[in-house]
Amino acid sequence: MGPPGAGKGTQGELLAQSLGVPRYSTGDILREACEEDSELGREVGRFIDAGELVPDTVILGIVGEVVDRPETAGGFVFDGFPRTVVQARGLEELLEERDLHLDAVIDLRVDAQEIQARLGARGRSDDGEETIQRRLDVYRAQTKPVLDWFAERGIEILEIHGVGSIEEIQRHIVESLPR
Ligand code: AMP
Repeated sequence: MGPPGAGKGTQGELLAQSLGVPRYSTGDILREACEEDSELGREVGRFIDAGELVPDTVILGIVGEVVDRPETAGGFVFDGFPRTVVQARGLEELLEERDLHLDAVIDLRVDAQEIQARLGARGRSDDGEETIQRRLDVYRAQTKPVLDWFAERGIEILEIHGVGSIEEIQRHIVESLPR
């Protein structure tokens, strides 16, 4: 977890590689869906380009499909999910039904100024100035509360300082993981 531009994709990919498990980025899966010439694809694209969250039912549908893939047998890393308390509850249910549990939640922390600078340089279709602001607001209003929800349930949250070299940040993540 972390605000847009925190480095979730980069760090999530490295972590998945070092654990030898798949990484699932709901953002990547949604962007792929947008490429398709379908009503759902177009609808998803409108949410993303506005900096809004895609509805929870769509996200939970995607995640439900993903966790049942055979490649997840040894575990998996989610990147950019859950982003709302409803999604976190849905995840809890999905895991319970399969007798799985969450080992850790990684909270990549980067301040707003650094984020503006990083996203400004990235140039994705949802990286325009207004959309960045909206995504940051959405993060504060809808995703931050998920961290409190996890904390209330006694799930370990690893707070990782997300500024520094990619390798250094990854090392902190790996060292903080529960053994
Ligand atoms: P990301 O690649 O994680 O930055 O996600 C890009 C965009 O995809 C977000 O701004 C949302 O519009 C959408 N998105 C990705 N993951 C989720 C999620 N878990 N819930 C709702 N919307 C999401």
